[in-house]
Amino acid sequence: MKTDIIKFTNDKKDDKNKLKKIANTLRKGGLVVFPTETVYGLGGNGLDKAACKKIYEAKGRPSDNPLILHIVEFNQIEELVEEIPEVAKKCMVKFWPGPLTIIFRRSDLVPDEATGGLDTVAIRMPSNEIAHEILKEVNLPIAAPSANLSGRPSPTETEHVIKDLKGRVDIIVDGGHSIVGIESTVLDVTVDPPMILRPGRITLEDLQEIDSRIKIDSATIDAKSGEAPKSPGQKYKHYAPKAPAICFGGGLDKIITEIKKNIKENKGKKIAVLASEESYDEYKNEGVHLLLNLGSREHLEDVASNLFSALRQCDEENVDIIFAEGYELRGIGLSIMNRLLKACGGKVVMRI
Ligand code: AMP
Ligand code: MG
Repeated sequence: MKTDIIKFTNDKKDDKNKLKKIANTLRKGGLVVFPTETVYGLGGNGLDKAACKKIYEAKGRPSDNPLILHIVEFNQIEELVEEIPEVAKKCMVKFWPGPLTIIFRRSDLVPDEATGGLDTVAIRMPSNEIAHEILKEVNLPIAAPSANLSGRPSPTETEHVIKDLKGRVDIIVDGGHSIVGIESTVLDVTVDPPMILRPGRITLEDLQEIDSRIKIDSATIDAKSGEAPKSPGQKYKHYAPKAPAICFGGGLDKIITEIKKNIKENKGKKIAVLASEESYDEYKNEGVHLLLNLGSREHLEDVASNLFSALRQCDEENVDIIFAEGYELRGIGLSIMNRLLKACGGKVVMRI
């Protein structure tokens, strides 16, 4: 399949033509990768069974792992869901458009192919301007999982998408860096109390300001909790870099000491270290092959924003082993740790 790469130029007429082409492709059942503030999305018409199936094929995604429907107007939601609980209304008003996905009971209009056969549906209103324009032009709910091949880190740059999906989709829209950088927070309001199934930029603490009863699924951080994951995506090993990764927890001094010790023990290997602004200099003279500064611990949103790019860089450089600094298990730190622990997929040694 030939993949067109489209970039908007701020030339009004030219951009309008591009938007029309994108919308037509989606209406005809084609696949369009577009930027969102979280990560790039692999979009298809969410009401079209065949288009949804194509999304799974393009990604190589297991068909029981449901998709998220993207909308742009509040009234689009009504025909997609059975009811909008009060807590969802409050969250929509406060956090939409933005990186929050809400799980509702679905209406009959939503095909099984969009929900992996579940009787619930995930819906989000992204805030990215290009996503907005596309959703407005096409005027359909667009099913869009992250635009990576299944098992690869979610894409936060156009180059990541090109690497994974060129030749497998009709259009890739180049929208630069995804600023949030980790996937949306997923909140299930079909259960009481409402439950966070995937942590993201909108944190447990943010959501508890709306309803203090909101809880977080323990499986988001502890893969071995013994509980069955409530969100199908959680059972899959996501975001896995090629090399084994080890995440080190505890206070920063302890983390640095442990990582330095492990660097010495692995002498001769191509080592990557995912460091933070505060610790970066500590590893400079340790003979590390790839030393990355994800950002300051005072600004964890920067660390989140750079995380997936860093994991992909480890693959590009074909490192043998990755040592990642851990973060506190609250606020955005918890969302970062959820992704890091998945990236370590079974090969994790969490030394707290
Ligand atoms: P992605 O768009 O690739 O970030 O994946 C969407 C994720 O949202 C899935 O992997 C699920 O974990 C979650 N999700 C989507 N729909 C539902 C649903 N109806 N119930 C529970 N989780 C869902
Ligand atoms: Mg994904």
